[in-house]
Amino acid sequence: MFKSLLHAISLTLGLIFSSPGQTPKTSAAFGNVAQQAFNYFARMDKQPDEFLRNIRLQKVTLELKLKALNLIPPESLVEPSAKGQAKLRALSPILKYHERDSFIELKIIRVPVATASFLAGAAILITEPALELLTTEELQAVVAHELSHEYYWNEFELARRSQQYHVIKELELRCDGIAVITLKQLGLNPDRLISATTKFQQYNERQGFPPSENYVSLAERLRFIQAMTNMIQVRNHAAHTPTRK
Ligand SMILES: [Zn+2]
Repeated sequence: MFKSLLHAISLTLGLIFSSPGQTPKTSAAFGNVAQQAFNYFARMDKQPDEFLRNIRLQKVTLELKLKALNLIPPESLVEPSAKGQAKLRALSPILKYHERDSFIELKIIRVPVATASFLAGAAILITEPALELLTTEELQAVVAHELSHEYYWNEFELARRSQQYHVIKELELRCDGIAVITLKQLGLNPDRLISATTKFQQYNERQGFPPSENYVSLAERLRFIQAMTNMIQVRNHAAHTPTRK
């Protein structure tokens, strides 16, 4: 059941788990992929909110949304506990920031991996261990990342089809970048994206799940998130400081 669900998700979402025996990168340098993702945001010629508004795609049609929701096997859906529901309620400002409130649904699924995924403009799938493991603020950070997938949906699809992992890795970092923007603009702490990502990796390693091929090393990812946080802070500060003529 778990395998077939994961397979269905991986076909739909490209949630590709790497084959066993692969060693995660431990390089201390900011590699090409991270540098390119960073440059992408460094080149923003507008304030972050406006930049995102300009690159935001249209919502999927209701028909496509229902089609995507139908891909979730009903037996894998879980009714969250009261505590889980309170965490989910705290996600509405994140959805609203991306203009996806009362459209994108939040679904809890019974899968042993701690993760979340973006279901084709229709839903964010949050696994049971992820809902349990993360604090409310960490879940907000993870959902901000997942919602960002929609901005690069077409690029992700192309890269997946041609198995261009360096492109997928860069797009995943861009999603981290948008998540940082989201959290900063909402007055939330982007460090929660760092703690959530770390918790996921540690938990999944303990359960024997290898890291996905879709990401740069954890160390590099965390450095990227930190660098993005600093960049947005400097930009916001500059935007609010009157210039002298
Ligand atoms: Zn992602």
